[in-house]
Amino acid sequence: MEAIGVLMMCPMNNYLEEELDRRFKLFRYWTQPRKREFLTQHGESIRAVVGNASAGADAVLIDALPKLEIVSSYSVGLDKIDLIKCEEKGIRVTNTPDVLTDDVADLAIGLMLAVLRRICVCDKYVRSGKWKHGDFKLTTKFSGKRVGIIGLGRIGLAIAKRAEAFDCPISYYSRSKKSNTNYKYYESLIELASNCDILVVACALTPETTHIVNREVMNALGPNGVLINIGRGPHVDEPELVSALVEGRLGGAGLDVFEKEPHVPEQLFKLENVVLLPHVGSGTVETRIAMADLVLGNLEAYFANKPLLTPVV
Ligand code: NAP
Repeated sequence: MEAIGVLMMCPMNNYLEEELDRRFKLFRYWTQPRKREFLTQHGESIRAVVGNASAGADAVLIDALPKLEIVSSYSVGLDKIDLIKCEEKGIRVTNTPDVLTDDVADLAIGLMLAVLRRICVCDKYVRSGKWKHGDFKLTTKFSGKRVGIIGLGRIGLAIAKRAEAFDCPISYYSRSKKSNTNYKYYESLIELASNCDILVVACALTPETTHIVNREVMNALGPNGVLINIGRGPHVDEPELVSALVEGRLGGAGLDVFEKEPHVPEQLFKLENVVLLPHVGSGTVETRIAMADLVLGNLEAYFANKPLLTPVV
């Protein structure tokens, strides 16, 4: 397969990059200073694209690669891939579901605890020597809080399972009621937000779910409510989130994702009720290797005419 041209969109993981380089003819897109010239020169020899949560395959790229046959994404989210165009052109698409579910769900619980118990602020308190001058103020209990989940898919369910162990009553909102759980289902997101203490975004990013958490939802969650976003930044109307937090209309937020990564609104930096993470939901050594193996496995299966491991299109 060494002659098959594979275009990697951005740096992702050394192991993945080395293996792609060893098994295929690898092109590193981010190292190309003149993208248009590069595509004109090499477009005909690229049969696969490897993208991730920040750089995938949009319509412009797909049109510039006339021999493209497969997009193998190093992510479960598909929001950076023009799926309709891929379907139209018969381009196969794969992602990395399941292997990252535990990590993202673990982190969601970590964010809930970190926001309510002010873990990051406590850590700074000790390091700065302030503890010597007095005890830290009281925080908010997590166990038993009502957790509402937007999108009860693989990750949403894993978060629910973990939160149940903390005696948290679980409810959710999605396009349809799930038959595989007894969690309370709300047909309206406002209703869900009005009836939970912690609202977690765990749905896929689509045009329908862009800014699904808007001012009305934040107001429904209220001054004691906490928003956790481990989905995608554009799920939340970020300027509205900043205002809600600054004005005290929302109780706190734990955010792994942002609208314009890696840019984070600076007004959030000084808020103690906010925990900010640099999009690390699946960022463990173990999981990133498993994701890389799925990317490689899907490419090898495709070019060996075998069934794809995790097909989307
Ligand atoms: P999944 O199993 O496909 O679940 C996605 C859920 O989104 C489904 O339950 C679906 O429910 C819901 N959904 C889709 N459209 C909706 C809508 N219009 N309104 C409400 N809910 C909607 O995917 P997953 O593996 O759990 O991953 C979920 C997302 O997490 C990914 O798409 C990705 O963006 C994000 N993620 C983030 C990180 C990170 O590092 N922070 C890592 C991995 C994944 P219905 O079909 O019933 O509506």
